[in-house]
Amino acid sequence: MSDLQPWVFMGGTFDPVHNGHLRTALEIQQWLACDQVHLIPSRSPVHRDEPGCSARQRYEMLALAVEDESFLSVDAREIESQEASYTLNTLRSLRQELGEQRPLVMVMGVDAYLTLPTWRQWDTFLSLCHIIVVSRPGYHFHPEGQINELTRKHRMDKPEALSLRPCGGVLIHELTPLGISATQIRALIAQGQSPRYLMPDRVWQYIQQNKLYGYK
Ligand code: ATP
Ligand code: MG
Repeated sequence: MSDLQPWVFMGGTFDPVHNGHLRTALEIQQWLACDQVHLIPSRSPVHRDEPGCSARQRYEMLALAVEDESFLSVDAREIESQEASYTLNTLRSLRQELGEQRPLVMVMGVDAYLTLPTWRQWDTFLSLCHIIVVSRPGYHFHPEGQINELTRKHRMDKPEALSLRPCGGVLIHELTPLGISATQIRALIAQGQSPRYLMPDRVWQYIQQNKLYGYK
């Protein structure tokens, strides 16, 4: 039975990682009572401009952020991959590793979920994984068109349902609202202001030491 525990991950740019990401991942881990939630930084994000620092630095900040939290870990597969950071590639590689039966769960904020139809072969994702959509302050869950259809077709109500199938479900989950974004943090730092308490101190120290995001 234990090998049917869902394998749960959250992808993102993490440019830089902040408490909104970390608290989200931990609340999901506690809610599902799974072993861990894996954070997967993307190498060269395909949906956005180049990040403010290297993939290695974003990875190192994540590693520092989860250093003393055994329920969270960082997975380097995207930054080490030669392929572009398409979620499709990540899902395929995870599915290959986990086998056909083990439930695979992708966690994403509602902002990311609503953009799904612009992602490569997004309509195949639910044949590879389940999706948990988490609330995020400032974004409302009003799915329209294709996303509305997808949600209605695949929606599940209880987290227990995730363990019964390897893929194919969409769960919507409310979290402690934390209106933090990496965009806000980059702007604060560039303006010479402190982002303290929005992110782990260790990450803020790393940013200062490496003079990232325009820190002087
Ligand atoms: P940016 O402002 O650069 O876009 P971000 O804060 O949105 O950064 P991302 O790396 O883009 O962070 O997000 C990775 C994932 O984490 C996405 O699924 C996003 O929806 C989710 N997420 C980010 N911040 C929060 C938050 N405060 N609450 C809930 N989910 C969040
Ligand atoms: Mg974002």
